[in-house]
Amino acid sequence: MRAVQYRTIGGEPEVVEIPTPEPAPGQVRLRVTAAGLCHSDSFIMGLPAEQYVYGLPLTLGHEGAGVVDALGDGVTGVAVGDSVVVYGPWGCGLCHACARGAENYCPHAAGLGIAPPGLGAPGALAEYMIVDDVRHLVPLGDLDPVASVSLTDAGLTPYHAIVSSLGALTAGSTAVVIGAGGLGHVAIQILRAITGATVVALDISDEKLELASQVGAHHVLRSDPSAVEAIRSLTGGVGAEAVFDIVGAPPTLELARQVVAVNGVVQIVGIGGGVLPTGFFSTPFGASVRAPYWGTRTELMEVLDLARSGAIHVEVERYTLDETPAAYRRLHDGTVRGRAVIVP
Ligand code: NAD
Ligand code: ZN
Repeated sequence: MRAVQYRTIGGEPEVVEIPTPEPAPGQVRLRVTAAGLCHSDSFIMGLPAEQYVYGLPLTLGHEGAGVVDALGDGVTGVAVGDSVVVYGPWGCGLCHACARGAENYCPHAAGLGIAPPGLGAPGALAEYMIVDDVRHLVPLGDLDPVASVSLTDAGLTPYHAIVSSLGALTAGSTAVVIGAGGLGHVAIQILRAITGATVVALDISDEKLELASQVGAHHVLRSDPSAVEAIRSLTGGVGAEAVFDIVGAPPTLELARQVVAVNGVVQIVGIGGGVLPTGFFSTPFGASVRAPYWGTRTELMEVLDLARSGAIHVEVERYTLDETPAAYRRLHDGTVRGRAVIVP
């Protein structure tokens, strides 16, 4: 089968021919119907050798959708032909966190050598992929796989961050979204769908600000130091009850620190390498700072239901497997509108 692999540190992802995998007992093989490209892929492909822990060669793709194609011995609960998406943050399946569906916070996964597909295990950027357990499949029903695949990360990750901030996002509150890219443009729609907050979106690109407006942001602002004053003024001096920093770089975290309200929350979703000093004199009274990771399996079901209801959608740029390296270049350059999705 054909697959897109990261093969050499610092190199470009390559389209290669590799053996089609067979499902071992308990596993499921999917014929991939769609796979999304995430900025986290760019991040890991930018790591130096001493920090790169995902194995080589790595078949990329941690947003996956497919049709059940073959069942390993003992698998029940799904049938060949079922259309599914893959819940990506695989855990041990046995601990307290996993039992709650929060495999994204399984404390044992790393120690057991369990890694998400595309971030250690072979991922979705291939004609076929192996899913380790049927519990990591969520039925798509009649949702379109190409339109829905990125809900597994670009939808799920902001949903998880927003749901954990719901207490702050009452009617009359303000939510700031920094970065209106793949995750950010879905974050704006989720905030509109499930909270009463006024949504202020920030980006450095005019095209992304236009997209942010189109998907429901009440206000859009250039992401620079002048945004602090603008947000203060929009909120009558109070600041934002919740800030979702989907960039996470030093300047955006500094901005988040300066605009978060008393008792507010900063959710650091982006992995841009910034640090936010938290302390009595550096963040407002009562403010909390959190760095959430991905989301829970039940939250993924809720995100799919939001899409089913028409409340949220992903803006998709569609590419073939052969076009994947070029699509990754666009993602790296910040020119993808919404999410790049590969259809093998
Ligand atoms: P993306 O490239 O699609 O979007 C990033 C957006 O940020 C772009 O619109 C870009 O113009 C904008 N941007 C860049 N610098 C900015 C700045 N200084 N101020 C405001 N906007 C700026 O990326 P994505 O796939 O949406 O991922 C966003 C971030 O979230 C990445 O860091 C990614 O690694 C991370 N991520 C984290 C998790 C998690 O579990 N916490 C999950 C998925 C992705
Ligand atoms: Zn991701």
